[in-house]
Amino acid sequence: AIQEKDFVKACIKCGLCVNACPYDTLDLATIQSSTVTGTPFFKAREVPCYMCLDVPCVPPCPSGALDINLLKNDSEEMDISKARMGLAVINKETCVAFWGIQCDACYRACPLIDDAIIVKTERNERTGKHAYLIPEVSANSCTGCGLCEHACITELPAIKVFPRAMVMGKEGSHYIKGWDADDEKRLNDIKKVEKYSEDNSGAIDYLNNSDDLFTDD
Ligand code: SF4
Ligand code: SF4
Ligand code: SF4
Repeated sequence: AIQEKDFVKACIKCGLCVNACPYDTLDLATIQSSTVTGTPFFKAREVPCYMCLDVPCVPPCPSGALDINLLKNDSEEMDISKARMGLAVINKETCVAFWGIQCDACYRACPLIDDAIIVKTERNERTGKHAYLIPEVSANSCTGCGLCEHACITELPAIKVFPRAMVMGKEGSHYIKGWDADDEKRLNDIKKVEKYSEDNSGAIDYLNNSDDLFTDD
């Protein structure tokens, strides 16, 4: 999916996606909002994204900030599960499932149940008799729709959606899973980009060279 910084650059702040959403999920940010003024955003605790199968908010976008091609699956059909609006993060301190209380509200609310979010069982050593049923989010599948945040039973949500760039981290090129062909491909892709930059450094230096802008004439 398009990165948040690229999205902010591409969005022309026309509000067509906001008008197209049947759930009134989206709003345009004001100067008091947590994101760039004029860009669409939503407060998942109040109104989450319901992951409409026909994704009516995307086709009206005239700028490509919301890119229909990023949502197409192998059969060239729109697939909302490819959306990456954010990533749900669970706070182990306030999620009561980590206390041993049975709660699966977020798990049940997830449209990608058993994919974007699973429930793991662990032995409760404190009681010696019970199991913990612990929710776990998969960064590979979570769309950031916020239905889990909306459903969370704690006073303030123990599961919350954040921008992916804020919480994903980045492994860099020093760590590679040698046993994973996809991860080897990631290293090869990084090498190709570095080689391209080296091969074209003359052109880039030329473009960035501003010496001739500052003459004595
Ligand atoms: S996919 Fe989400 S944001 Fe888009 S129209 Fe449906 S509910 Fe609204
Ligand atoms: S339709 Fe596209 S360009 Fe217009 S506000 Fe929405 S995201 Fe931005
Ligand atoms: S934000 Fe929550 S409900 Fe939505 S896909 Fe991710 S884990 Fe599931």
